[in-house]
Amino acid sequence: MTRKDDMRFEDFDLRPEILRALADLGYEEPTPIQQGTMDALLRDKDMIGQAQTGSGKTAAFMLPILDRVEEDSKDLQALVLCPTRELALQVADASRSFAKYLDGVEVVPVYGGAPIVDQIAALGRGGQIVVGTPGRVLDLMRRGKMLLADCRMVVLDEADEMLSMGFIDDVKDILKATPWGKQTALFSATMPDPITRLAEDELHAPEHVKIASKEITVDTIEQRVAFCEPKDKLDLLERFIQETQPRCAIVFARTKIGTQRLADDLKRRGHKVRALHGDMSQGSRDSVMIAFRNQRVPILVATDVAARGLDVSHVTHVVNYELPDEAEVYVHRIGRTGRVGREGFAISFVSNKERFKLDQVEALLKRKIQVWGEDAPAPAAPAADAGLSVDDAAAAEPSGHAPAAGDGATIDGEQPKRKRRRRGGRGRGKGGEGGGGQPPAPVAAE
Ligand code: ADP
Ligand code: MG
Repeated sequence: MTRKDDMRFEDFDLRPEILRALADLGYEEPTPIQQGTMDALLRDKDMIGQAQTGSGKTAAFMLPILDRVEEDSKDLQALVLCPTRELALQVADASRSFAKYLDGVEVVPVYGGAPIVDQIAALGRGGQIVVGTPGRVLDLMRRGKMLLADCRMVVLDEADEMLSMGFIDDVKDILKATPWGKQTALFSATMPDPITRLAEDELHAPEHVKIASKEITVDTIEQRVAFCEPKDKLDLLERFIQETQPRCAIVFARTKIGTQRLADDLKRRGHKVRALHGDMSQGSRDSVMIAFRNQRVPILVATDVAARGLDVSHVTHVVNYELPDEAEVYVHRIGRTGRVGREGFAISFVSNKERFKLDQVEALLKRKIQVWGEDAPAPAAPAADAGLSVDDAAAAEPSGHAPAAGDGATIDGEQPKRKRRRRGGRGRGKGGEGGGGQPPAPVAAE
């Protein structure tokens, strides 16, 4: 099948049960990565898929898995490896929603930090699809509780992240235990050398699909920066929350302790917040994610554990309370909002000491980030004590708008014929326009 504009899921001849589930989910047309990879996967080809976060990779590999699953057999037929527990759960949940009309198809998530006996019991009942983190999968394999003899497809999701979390050897060990001749798909936002080598060793004549985007960050995310010293950040954050009334915001801090402290401070000031970081038990991490996903808690304060891959579909605001040490992490953090064409707003609080990090981020983005509050006239009488010092000349740019993204797929190095139309959220206006989920009202530049 050749790519064409306005391709539909029907064009892939997916089973009607899957098409029905997609219609329920409101998926109207495949995203570029889905268009680029699904056909090859359905033809049993090995595949490398490279695309930014939020591009729809889960369905790209899961729909082909579900289309070919044999529900009459309870054997494990497909294994998806993810870097974190949260991602494994998220992929499993998404898979179940795609599979809801496929009777007898079971998806079993397995991950560390939760009782292994429950997972062994679930595997014992039989599941055709297992989604898991490498450590726990290996553990279950070694205990003889997970049999991969009939596994026909392996997906490495967020491969670069599995590498940076130190799972690469586990991944290789798992792959060794899978049958020869299986299909392997590798998805990764970036292709560092070890991942390229892994692909060379493990994949057979893979098709390579890379979704190029002109802008590194998703073009529907409005980005702003506010200059503010550490002692004033809490006041600034509170003011930001009051002005924007975010429905669903993630506030990123750098350390576990700092994250917990910030969540506690906000709670004391009467805000509905929860913390998410690695010092918490798996049980409380799960309950926080559920509360946040169900929008019972509008503000999540998190370390970068939450920065990668987590898909909470309606994140409206991302706050970098502190800038991350690596500029790339900034991109992943703000990628929590503006998922698949939805609009989002990201603001970074930058102290003097963090200026160099901002420089690095802007170098990576190849553009300046506009200062918050400078894109529209100031409101009449703002509080003057929020600790916001706006450094005007440095970061302002006339309108701060991303050029239209070239989010067409490049398949095997071919250029897309023309730019794809994107669903929703396109061509947003200037900051300061009204409307739901819009950027905050500006604060005064003092
Ligand atoms: P990625 O793994 O590339 O970061 P996800 O698979 O998590 O992205 O998808 C991001 C979001 O986009 C999810 O909320 C998902 O339901 C939604 N989505 C994916 N594909 C489509 C589509 N074709 N149409 C509409 N929404 C989609
Ligand atoms: Mg993903």
